[in-house]
Formats: sequence, structure tokens, C-alpha cells
Amino acid sequence: MRAALAGVGGALGRSYPLIVGGKRIETDGEIASLDPSDPSRVVGYAGRATEREADMALQTATEAFGSWSRTTPEARARIMLRAAGIMRRRKFELLAWEVYEGGKPWSEADAQVAEAIDFLEYYAREMLRLKDGVPIYAVPGEESRYFYQPMGVGVVIAPWNFPTAILTGMASAALVAGNTVVMKPSEFTPITGALVAEIFEEAGVPDGVMGYLPGYGSEIGDYLVSDARTRFVSFTGSMKTGLRINELAARQVERQRWIKRVIAEMGGKDAMIVDDSADLDSAAADIVKSAYGYSGQKCSAASRAILHADVYDEVLGKVVERARGLKIGAPESADVSVGPVISEPQFEKVSGYIDVGKDEGERVLGEDPGDPKNGYFVPPTIYAGVDPGAKIAQEEIFGPVLSVIRARDFDDALKIANDNPYGLTGGVYSRNREHLERARHEFKAGNVYFNRGITGALVGVQPFGGLGLSGTDSKAGGPDYLPLHMLARTVVERF
Ligand code: NAD
Repeated sequence: MRAALAGVGGALGRSYPLIVGGKRIETDGEIASLDPSDPSRVVGYAGRATEREADMALQTATEAFGSWSRTTPEARARIMLRAAGIMRRRKFELLAWEVYEGGKPWSEADAQVAEAIDFLEYYAREMLRLKDGVPIYAVPGEESRYFYQPMGVGVVIAPWNFPTAILTGMASAALVAGNTVVMKPSEFTPITGALVAEIFEEAGVPDGVMGYLPGYGSEIGDYLVSDARTRFVSFTGSMKTGLRINELAARQVERQRWIKRVIAEMGGKDAMIVDDSADLDSAAADIVKSAYGYSGQKCSAASRAILHADVYDEVLGKVVERARGLKIGAPESADVSVGPVISEPQFEKVSGYIDVGKDEGERVLGEDPGDPKNGYFVPPTIYAGVDPGAKIAQEEIFGPVLSVIRARDFDDALKIANDNPYGLTGGVYSRNREHLERARHEFKAGNVYFNRGITGALVGVQPFGGLGLSGTDSKAGGPDYLPLHMLARTVVERF
């Protein structure tokens, strides 16, 4: 890892043009990607697509669809497996880019790249499982077949917080299913996006089948989503952007001959409940891990701890003590557990919530963040005694800020947890079987975890996706994900 950091450290500041039809396309503008630990350091310069290049990318993907959609599923799967192999070979290099561009501590970077590899492997094998369709019944005298076929051009729009895993996952599912894609990475992590694009190319994704289109959402997002050539949009990001995409995609435009499909995975305000019967040490340890991993910048991060009144003081004390032990700093060092937040806007947003919290709870850990010029560092912060309806208990902060809420009993805790527009992840720490069974059915979240942390969903083991305003329940890394990228056909022949 140290050698990789030194190697990548010497390669910062290069330029990464767009990739359309296998060609490198220069743009008039550029996006300077900054190191969030040291914003004076440019990680790289990415192209900055405008509608002109977005048009070019959609046209190229449209033209490439015919041949790619006729490529056998086995051949497409093989390319994804090769991409997984390349990622394994280049793993430390990818981790180092994550450290510089994403501000990720080593273990977080490692988990993220491992997840990208898992997505490639999983979707490749899922395609092999589904390639001949699935069994259905037939009536005497007829043969009935039910199978899937590719959809068309997919626009893949990714966030910055899992810039390798989510971009790779969304794009590989679309590609292995036989679609062509235009990949738009986040403007905050376009260099990681360029590496993913390079790996797809090296693995054998043909020219034109995958376009790499870095750019600002505000400049090309609406265009990509609204265009008649777009067949589906695969998006992961904030609720606000997801709802806008859903709305725009629903409007039919001239020459559009389909209802666009939107796969949108969005934010969370995830809660962990600690019941009076729980193992309090484990609960506290997992709350801290789930709240502060990657500085709380995970859609699955615990941002609400809902504690049974009888154990409130004890658990709060343990959480504060553990969180105080976290080491904050630039993640180039192996022992750093909390790095910076991603960007200046994110730093300002989280700092704003820290101010709001002063009126909404008692700050039992943390201090005001320092000068962002010295890196976008925000110390782990805990507000105690927060009202369930408070702003910091209702809105997604996406930073290292935990709101601790007191519940009268388990019923009250579950009610508080569910009283939120999001529904992504949630956790219950309890030894009471009846309570766990209630939560199994009544906790309003796509991913519910008992007696463990609530982040780090494993591909194929914990299919991931939200309810409510957290998304379209697509469950990435699960058995229902690939069919979302295909059209199902029923063909019946009478003998
Ligand atoms: P964001 O919504 O600001 O941006 C996500 C992507 O959308 C970026 O590529 C951005 O350029 C693009 N975009 C912006 N405006 C657009 C528009 N009008 N049309 C099309 N695209 C547009 O989100 P972010 O800050 O990058 O990511 C953080 C958010 O993502 C958090 O809310 C987090 O919870 C969520 N997230 C959810 C999951 C999940 O699986 N549910 C996973 C990771 C992150």
C-alpha cells in the first residue's frame, strides 16, 4: 500500500479526457479534482462534457447497441470476469487513488474496491444464470418460453462516495445484460471514474459500448436523462437529484418510443435501536463503526442512535468514549480512521448542520470544524437528547454527526425509527426475540440488521437498496437486480 501511494502520488495532476467510441475527446473546459485532505493538491484534470459531447456519447451508444446486444451473454460475462481480474491485479493502485481523490482511509478504500470486484463477478454469473430465461408452465400442445433481452442505451449516473464500487456495479450490470452505457461519474471523483472506464476497455468492452462522460450534473444531467435515445437511467445519489431524474424521465419527448425505466438509489437517515436487553458494549462499538466509517459519508451510515431509556446513559457513555478514540487525519497514514469529507460544499453543509445541532441537542462530542483550506476535516460529533422531529434527526447530513435519541420503550423506539421519509438501512440491538421478530416485519428499511453494524453490505449476501424515499428498491448485488436492466419476453409456439 505504501508503494502504491508513492507511485500514485507521483502521478497526480494528469489529464483524463472523455472517452466516446474508443476515442479520447478533449473538451473546452475541465474539472480539477482536488484532494480533500489538501485541497491545494490537484489529483487530476478530467474533461468537462457539455451537451455537445453528451449528444455524441448518446449517439455512439445508440449505434453500438445493435452489435453488442447480439453478443452472446457468455461473451459479455467473460469480459466482466476479465475486468474483475484486472481490478484484482491493480487493486493497490486503485486503493491509492481512492485515498487521494476520495479521502478514504485504507480499510474503507479496500472494502470499496473489493465490492467493485464482487459486483463484476456476481453480475457476470447472474447473467449466466438468466441467459436462457426462467422456467414457466406450458399448456398441452404449446411451448412457452420466458426470457430476457437487452433494453438499449443506459445512462449511468454515479455519486462520489463509492466511486469505484457503485460506478462499476451499475455499469457492469447494464453492460453484461447487453445494453450500451454512457457513464457519468461524480464531478468530485472523475479520476477514479476514468480508471474504471480504462479497466472496462482493457477487459474488452468494445469501442462505443461504454462512454466515459465526466461532467457536472447541473450541465449535462437533464440533457442525458431527457433525451429520446435514453432507454433507462441507473442512478445512485441524493434524494433531490433522484426525484428530479424520475420526474424528467417520466415525460415523453418527441421520437421517444418507450417509457424510460429509472433505477434510483438515494439517501438515508439510518437508525440503530438499542433495546434494554442488548449487549451494550457490542452495540456501542457497532454504532461508532457504522456512524463514522468514511466520516459518515455512506448512504447506510448510522446517523440516529435510538436508545431505550433504561440503557440510555450507559450506551451514550460508551459511544462517546469509543468515538473519542477515533484518529482523524489525512488517510495516507495507515492508522487514520476518520478522513476528511469530500469537498468544500460538503464541508459547508455538514458544518451548517453542526450549527443547527447546537439548538437541537447537547453536543457531547466534537468541536467546530477548522479552516477548510487545511483540508475538509470535520471531527466526529455527537448530539445527545435530540428530539425525534429535530432537523438533525430527520435530514440526511452525510457527515460524521450522530443524533442520539431517547425512547421510552421498544415500541417507541421503532416508531421513532420509522417516522422518517427515508428507509435505507436500520439496525436493532436486542436479545428479545419478540422484538426482533416485530422489527423483521415492521422496521421500514430495505436492509435491516440485528445485533451487528448496518454498513458494508456484501454483494450477493446482503442485497442492498432502500424503501420510501431512499430509492426504487432495486437491491444492488441481489438476484432481482439484473432483470431491471432487461426486457422480459414471452414467446409461445403451438405445435
Ligand atoms: P448527488 O445527487 O449530488 O449526485 C449524484 C450524481 O448525480 C452525480 O454524478 C451528479 O453529477 C449527478 N447529478 C446532479 N444533478 C443531476 C441532474 N439534474 N441530472 C442528472 N444527474 C445529476 O449525490 P452525491 O452527493 O454525489 O452522493 C451522495 C448521495 O448519494 C447521498 O444522498 C447518499 O445517501 C446517496 N447514496 C445512496 C446510495 C444507495 O445505494 N442508496 C449509495 C451511495 C450514495
